[in-house]
Amino acid sequence: MAYLPICKKPHRYDILFESLPEYQGTFSRHKCAGCAYELGYFHAINGIPKATNDSVLANIPYSQAGHVRHKDAFAAYNEGYEFALSIAKAA
Ligand SMILES: [Zn+2]
Repeated sequence: MAYLPICKKPHRYDILFESLPEYQGTFSRHKCAGCAYELGYFHAINGIPKATNDSVLANIPYSQAGHVRHKDAFAAYNEGYEFALSIAKAA
């Protein structure tokens, strides 16, 4: 059986994720939207160009709990990225 990492982090973005669309595709559906959000944030603050597709989520954990399940993880990545940029502009 292949090792599938499961996210155990207590993400504090649960409220935000309530507004994310349900993902109807096949790849990132079960990825952790919390980790995806953090990845987007990390990329933005480190000047890494924003990913153009959800292959960027290949190495983040899966999620099986709470609000983030079945949310669009790539949408979460974009939200995190944009949030980091908005902070940078405000600073
Ligand atoms: Zn996570």
